[in-house]
Order: sequence, then structure tokens, then C-alpha cells
Amino acid sequence: MECTINRRAEFSASHRYWLPELSEAENQQCFGLCTRFPGHGHNYVLYVSLLGDIDQYGMVQNLSEVKQVIKKEVTSQLNFSYLNDVWTEFQETLPTTENIARVLWQRLAPYLPLVQIELYEHPELWAAYQGNSMEAFLTVSTHFSAAHRLARPDLSYEENCEIYGKCARPNGHGHNYHLEVTIKGDIDPRTGMIADLVAFQEAIDRLVLEPFDHTFLNKDILYFAEVVPTAENIAVHIRDLLQGAIANLGATLHKVKLIESPNNSCEVYGLVFPQSLPMKEKIATYA
Ligand SMILES: [Zn+2]
Ligand SMILES: [Zn+2]
Repeated sequence: MECTINRRAEFSASHRYWLPELSEAENQQCFGLCTRFPGHGHNYVLYVSLLGDIDQYGMVQNLSEVKQVIKKEVTSQLNFSYLNDVWTEFQETLPTTENIARVLWQRLAPYLPLVQIELYEHPELWAAYQGNSMEAFLTVSTHFSAAHRLARPDLSYEENCEIYGKCARPNGHGHNYHLEVTIKGDIDPRTGMIADLVAFQEAIDRLVLEPFDHTFLNKDILYFAEVVPTAENIAVHIRDLLQGAIANLGATLHKVKLIESPNNSCEVYGLVFPQSLPMKEKIATYA
């Protein structure tokens, strides 16, 4: 019987994004504030996921041994360190969240049956790595506030109340929506990035947050004049709005998760295009 187990660990460390072969202006252009000397720090939270059969003791792996391995191979070495210098891997490829996740996998894989390394730089930015060469996932979490009303224009008020309950009331109601956008791509062997993070965040701001925040979705967003703005339909629309911009950054939109309330969330995945399609054609297809 197979089972996945997850172990959490923490470390605090500093880093700086700076490539000596680039000019100061080029470094600024690529990494913004992260270029500042002598660096800045994060309280990293790490989740190590292991897959294996449940043994005669009812365990996939003895958790105290897992804890010891993570401490010896990772946290005791990285905690209170300057990441750029502490491991040679980070001299080759900058210690971005996604690259740290990849290197942690390499360091832990000889000892543990890994299926995923997930690394939070802070609660609104995290990376995941699943052992596939340079491929990694990066998630940005953000939020917007909006009102909506769930009702189909072709149905009577009574019929809408039957289907949507209180959500069909004529003047709508609101939510603080939490949005998580995950992109997938190859880690650049030098910058450590799967995409320009500033441009990724800017695309979410420009295409989603700016138009959606503090609106009545049914009236202010043209798309929802015809489509009922359920969490599912909002997530699909956000996926469609972001897919082209993310392809332009050289990454793929992997997942959009929309959390409408603590009790209610939904996830949609990016559209998959054939691997053989050149990037230019993929972008054209999205547009
Ligand atoms: Zn940082
Ligand atoms: Zn609602």
C-alpha cells in the first residue's frame, strides 16, 4: 500500500541576485531590488514529500530519521547562511526559490524517496520541484475583493433562486478572493529563474487585479455580462486572461486556484499544447 508523507522544516537565510558578468544596469533590469548589496533574507518553509509503501510498523519512513536527514543535509547547513556562498551549486545558478527547491532535491534524493520539494520564500511565493531535470513550478498568491450575483439572465428570479439560493439575490454580495497562479518552466542555468518574477507579477496585476479589484463582476467585467461569475467561471476566465502573457514570458500557465471563502475554492489547469509546437506558434494559439 503506497502512501505520500510530508515533513515540514524551516530555515532562515540571505541571498543576493547579482551576476558578475552583467553590468550594474543589466543586473538591475533582471533582478530589481534583489540586486541590493549585501543581500536580503527570508524565513524559508520547506515541505519534503516522500512516497513509499507502508511497512510493518505502519510507516512509509521513520519520521525521526527523516527529520535527522533534513537537518544534517539541509537546515543545519543553510540556516543563518548566505546562500550564494554556502553551496557551490548556488555559484553556478542563483539561489532563487525554484532553484533552491531543485538543489534541495539533489541533496536529499540519495537518502529519501522524494516525490516533491516545496519551498515557501514567504506565504505569497513558493516553488515546487518534482525531480524532472530543470523543470519547476512557481506560485504567486494574491487577492482581490469583488461583488457578484449568481443568476442566469434567461431564467426567472424564482428559477435562479431555486438554483443559486441566496447568491441570486438581486443586489449581489461580495468576497475577498484569494488567487494562486502557478507557472511551470525550465530553470535558467545561470539566473535560476523559470520566468521574470517581476513581469509575472506585473501580468497578474495588469490583467486580473487592476480590472477585477473592487468591482461588481457581473456589471464591470464584460465577460460576465453573459457568463455567470461563479468561482469556477472566474477561474477559467483568469486562466484565459493570463495564458498568453505567461507564454510570452517563456513559461507555461500550470494552474489557477481561486479561493472564494475558507469553505469554497476551485482549481483549473492551463491548456496543454503539443510539445513539438514552437513557442511562437504556442503564443499565437493563445492569442
Ligand atoms: Zn529574496
Ligand atoms: Zn458569492
